[in-house]
Order: sequence, then C-alpha cells, then structure tokens
Amino acid sequence: MATAPAGDQQRLLEVQDADLRIQQARHRLDTLPQIAQIAELSGRAADLHEDVIARATEVSDLRRDVTKAEDDVQSVRTRAERDQARLDSGTGSAKDLQALQAELEVLTRRLSDLEDIELEAMQSVENAEKLHADATTQRDAITAQLDVLEAERAHAAAEIADEIADIEAERVMKAEGIDAGLLSLYERLRASNGGVGAALLQGRVCMGCNMTLNPGDVQAMTSAPSDQIARCEECGRILVRKADA
Ligand SMILES: [Zn+2]
Repeated sequence: MATAPAGDQQRLLEVQDADLRIQQARHRLDTLPQIAQIAELSGRAADLHEDVIARATEVSDLRRDVTKAEDDVQSVRTRAERDQARLDSGTGSAKDLQALQAELEVLTRRLSDLEDIELEAMQSVENAEKLHADATTQRDAITAQLDVLEAERAHAAAEIADEIADIEAERVMKAEGIDAGLLSLYERLRASNGGVGAALLQGRVCMGCNMTLNPGDVQAMTSAPSDQIARCEECGRILVRKADA
C-alpha cells in the first residue's frame, strides 16, 4: 500500500483545486466568444472583398465600353461634320452633293443610335459604380468590426493569461514539498481522468466521480492509517479523507 503524509494528501486537494482553475481558465481562453465571431465575420469579409474586386472589374470593363461608344460617336460625328462642310461649300456635281446628302442622313441616324448606346453605357457604369461603392462600404464596415473584436479578444486573452500565471504561481507554492510519489500518482491519474486526479471523500461519496461507495470500502478506508493513500473503487482517483476523519 502506497503511503504519503496525511498533510500532503490534504494539500493535494488544494493543488487539484488550482489545477482545475487553470484548466477552466484555459478553456475560457480557447472559447472566448470573440473567436467564433471573428471567424464568422472573417468569412463574410473575405466574401465581400471578392465582391468588391468583382465589382471593380465590372466598372473598368464598362468604362472601356463607354470609351469605345464615345470613340464611335466621335468618328461618325467627325465624318458627318466633314460631309456637312462639303455640302455647305456647294462644290461638286449635283450627283455628288445628292450622294453626300444621302450619306449625311444615314450618318445622322447612325449618330443618334450611337449616342443612345453611349448613354446606356454611361448609365451602366453609374450603376456598377454604385454597386462597387456599396460593396466597399459593407466590407469596410465589417473590417472595422473585426478590428474592434480583435482588440477585445486580445484584451480578454491577456487578462486570462495573467490569471493563469497567478494560479500557476499559487500551484507551485501549494505543490512544493508534497510527497513526490503522491504527486506523480496524482499527475498520472489527472491526465487520464479529465483533469481530476484527487478528490475528497465526502461521507461515502467520492467527489471525483460522485459515486456512493459501499460501506465496507469506506469503513476500511476510514479505519486505515491516515498516511495510507486511498483510491476510489469506482474511478480510481486518489480519495482524500477529511482531516478529522
Ligand atoms: Zn470516484
């Protein structure tokens, strides 16, 4: 039967308490609400960023269409003006002038069509620019939200890290001088039992697994020498009897 001074067994419960608080603080660190919020918003920010890029490409494509429409309008207009100037000068045969007149009419209709196309293209650019601006505004708003969340997360994480450092220092003090065999048994049990390696025997209940032990086992434990290390029959954890037991 393994033994360890009764006082060490009592102190082991304080080490256990510190270890649990460290474990809980680490869990809070890993599950800070901002972590999930940041993950969700980052996804949306990435989607919106892609949207902004797609909208910008669309705007630049449509601006090229406007430039082309403007060029088309300009070249037809130039040609119409040239024809008009020749008509106005009245030089050339009647047949030539008639042909010029006919061409001018065609050009005028063509110009009107091209101006409609130009107007539509300009309208499309305007719409696309608005969509691009909206997407940019949305993305920037989410980016700003992300910055705030990241600052909050960092602040909360720093506070918890301080808390953990304090408990770890406390744990070192509590564990100092405890029987090495008891401590290593505790560490081994703690690793394989969800962080709880030692528990108080409260009446007949193991506070580690909350099972009520059979009276015979409890009787044997309580009547055993106080330096004997008791183990729960149910969960195997170190059972620490109350100091006055
Ligand atoms: Zn137990």
